[in-house]
Amino acid sequence: MRLIRDLSNYVGAEDIIHVPLVEDVTEDRLVWKEETNGQYSVRSGYRVWKNSKKSHNPENGVEDWNDLWYILAPPRVKHLLWRICKGCLPFRARLSQRQVPCPTNCHFCGLTEEDDRHIFFVCSETNSCWRAAGLFDIVAPLLHRHNDIKSLILYVCSKVDRKVAGLFACMIEMLWQNRNDFIWNNEKEEASRLWWLAFHKWQEWFLAQNSQVNEAAPYQSSLDFASFWLVQVQRRRGF
Ligand SMILES: [Zn+2]
Repeated sequence: MRLIRDLSNYVGAEDIIHVPLVEDVTEDRLVWKEETNGQYSVRSGYRVWKNSKKSHNPENGVEDWNDLWYILAPPRVKHLLWRICKGCLPFRARLSQRQVPCPTNCHFCGLTEEDDRHIFFVCSETNSCWRAAGLFDIVAPLLHRHNDIKSLILYVCSKVDRKVAGLFACMIEMLWQNRNDFIWNNEKEEASRLWWLAFHKWQEWFLAQNSQVNEAAPYQSSLDFASFWLVQVQRRRGF
């Protein structure tokens, strides 16, 4: 308290001292958020440094998309992720901003403007799909960490296993197709079936790519995949 009084004028110091503290307040300590135990390690320090270099090259201002192209997913799916990151998909809010006369509300829930973040992660319809996949509890914290969809997608591409990121990307593709089918044909898939389709499309592609080396399917079911991703994310909970 003496330190506070020394640093501030009298009125300011009293205001600071009278701010109520939460009951379970403990002594402050330094925490390294990149490790679950809060302790700094050279390994995680190196990873942070490497990722900060990857995400942006200040010398030429060019973004680095290597992590996105490196995930294990069909090329068209990776291209879709890139288009989402570049803000190219014709969502209603975006069309409206460009003076295209069209409704702006989400076609599924009608509750808010339709943009990429809403369609891929926030809409109740979409939530059902992530829940059906057993991944909602994993996706939800990512939404809190990332204000824009580009940083969320690049996070998954750079931090998560390449196969898992590929499956995640296939799910995004199915959500996009489902949105288009609903808008243009008034047809949509059940949440559980949407995930099932994404999972099996990815498995098919993966096995076709690896048929010459007889690689076994990495996940026997979508549940295997969800468990695997959970481990991945828990390992990196510090992010
Ligand atoms: Zn919606």
